[in-house]
Amino acid sequence: MSVTEHDRTAAGSETAWDTALAQLDEVAEMMGLAPGVHEILRSPKRALIVSVPFRMDDGSTRVYEGYRVHHNVTRGPAKGGIRYHPDVGLDEVKALAMWMTWKCAIAGIPFGGAKGGIAVDPRQHSRSELERMTRRFASEILPLIGPERDIPAPDMNTDEEIMSWIMDTYSMNSGYSVPGVVTGKPVAIGGSRGRSGATSRGVMYMVFAMMRSLGLGIEEISVAIQGYGKVGGFLAQLLHDAGCRVVAISDVEGGLYRERGLDPEAINRHKREAGTVVGAPDCDAITNAELLELDCDVLIPAAVEGVITVKNADRVRARVICEAANGPITFEADKILNERGVYVVPDILANSGGVTVSYFEWVQDIQAYFWSEEEVNDRLRMIMERAFDDVSSFAEEKNLTLRQAAQWIGVGRVSEAHLTRGLFP
Ligand code: GLU
Repeated sequence: MSVTEHDRTAAGSETAWDTALAQLDEVAEMMGLAPGVHEILRSPKRALIVSVPFRMDDGSTRVYEGYRVHHNVTRGPAKGGIRYHPDVGLDEVKALAMWMTWKCAIAGIPFGGAKGGIAVDPRQHSRSELERMTRRFASEILPLIGPERDIPAPDMNTDEEIMSWIMDTYSMNSGYSVPGVVTGKPVAIGGSRGRSGATSRGVMYMVFAMMRSLGLGIEEISVAIQGYGKVGGFLAQLLHDAGCRVVAISDVEGGLYRERGLDPEAINRHKREAGTVVGAPDCDAITNAELLELDCDVLIPAAVEGVITVKNADRVRARVICEAANGPITFEADKILNERGVYVVPDILANSGGVTVSYFEWVQDIQAYFWSEEEVNDRLRMIMERAFDDVSSFAEEKNLTLRQAAQWIGVGRVSEAHLTRGLFP
């Protein structure tokens, strides 16, 4: 079963937007959030739906629906990725934008939350079709984006090259180069060193921080990773290199298991030829659903939303779940996991490495002064470890889960900004 099929069949009735709202409402009540601020935060500031027509290689025209949502910009410009996936829809993008708001606030970076996407299966299109589609989409969302307004970045199925096309389209309209309009660009046009691996690196720091707080050494741990894309693939390599036993990985086609630990280099070699991890030598085949229920120390969902739900939460055997994907655990499933004593490092903390280095990239573009990869990685580590310490000590002080503590801190900082600025007019 593919991750997407799994998502559709297992998520039941709780959508990503339901999850995001339930998480907000829960902490709003706990923290006694001002009702007016709560009401403001329950809906996005603005949402744009666009039609994206573009020419196919055979000369025909194709039209898809695209979205850009700003959830909140009280702390700074809107920030968040653009995803290309057939399941993209307004409610999903609203949820992802809301999570970006909390993520930036928890990391302490001066951005609000945004997200965008096109409901498209990019595998059905050639690179030149994707370029025309991207440039048209960028033109349609032009009124919303800009270095001081909204700065898109890569997300699911979008990459450095797609960011270059957005940067170029925006720059051609401005009449001069505007590198600060997107992050996750190639270094040649103002990208940051270390950006491409930043989300994975950040997740690794969070796994290690969690292990330290549980008194476990990293060589002792077994890890299963669902999703072998930009985040999961590099993360498998990083964790393997750090001495962890990565026992299972998967992509949309299926998964691999090896008790003694997988060899990411051999898997990457196989994937380059076969286009999937499935069939890599010396490992057993498992399904995505089986991977989520493996007996391991750390489970890392690094694919899509809603993969751990009320239907499978009581079968998860991992001790710790570190959310590399956005929204992989539904609100109801999170409660079950908590009752069962599973520690969850929430997405809005665990995967904030990507947007943190996006912030570094934006700062470097504005200052036209670029940092070494070592500087980027050191500062990333500092910000993420500080965020983990803030969240875990607050969780302990108030007897909260890490998710509740992270959400409380994020909502609290956004609320403080609202109350400080006051309500216009
Ligand atoms: N798409 C990434 C996320 O969900 C990164 C966003 C960014 O760098 O702006 O956090």
